[in-house]
Amino acid sequence: MVRAEGVHKSFGHVEVLKGIDLEVKPGEVFCLIGPSGSGKSTFLRCINHLEKINAGRLYVDGELVGYRQQGEKLYELRDREVAMKRRDIGMVFQRFNLFPHMTALDNVMEAPVQVRGAGRTQARERAVQLLERVGLADRAGHYPSQLSGGQQQRVAIARALAMDPKLMLFDEPTSALDPELVGDVLDVMRDLAESGMTMVVVTHEMGFAREVGDSLVFMDDGVVVESGHPRDVLTNPQHERTQSFLSKVL
Ligand code: ATP
Ligand code: MG
Repeated sequence: MVRAEGVHKSFGHVEVLKGIDLEVKPGEVFCLIGPSGSGKSTFLRCINHLEKINAGRLYVDGELVGYRQQGEKLYELRDREVAMKRRDIGMVFQRFNLFPHMTALDNVMEAPVQVRGAGRTQARERAVQLLERVGLADRAGHYPSQLSGGQQQRVAIARALAMDPKLMLFDEPTSALDPELVGDVLDVMRDLAESGMTMVVVTHEMGFAREVGDSLVFMDDGVVVESGHPRDVLTNPQHERTQSFLSKVL
């Protein structure tokens, strides 16, 4: 579903991704861990066409991110085409970027109606189902300010799912939450994983990575230091940098 081959990304003179190679298989929960500043968010943003890579190849669902291939030639996608591609990828951030002036229901309906031109009745039905799925059927009429952080984050997940994404990206979705609210969000993500969704999850929740993850990559300073099955990497890290990081977070 995602394949990175020697992906490089710089901001000015600062090289943030220094040749990332990895593969996310369809239906897999792929966890990405690493210290602050190691390039995890930048990599997610590259997958979602929010950042352009400087070198290497990045594929989503078999297609080059940001380019169209015609014969041997590569053409850069126009903004409109990029926006089309981005629709297939749901993203949930650390901060719950809900529209503050809209109810939970309207937040979930917004993209299908505005972007895809879905009928309001149909979009509303679907939004109700999605809110049910994340355990918030009874909060449909609430505004973000009337919801807890965990509830807002579950609305954000429902909103991303409303566009029927092929792939979901999570960037530390629970790290801004009070500890007692983390579990509900992780439960929703676990359900989503069980439904077969392909997920790339940047997280500090090692319990989630171990129990739900199919693959885990430890990134440091823009490179993949170590990867494998979460159980193996977390319980028996081979690399000194992985050991040192895990000793701090576990
Ligand atoms: P954290 O765990 O703190 O979220 P991260 O692994 O997600 O860290 P990134 O946000 O990808 O790290 O940042 C990697 C490096 O790239 C950092 O040094 C950051 O300052 C730099 N960086 C990220 N985005 C930009 C940008 N738009 N312009 C310049 N530098 C940037
Ligand atoms: Mg980050």
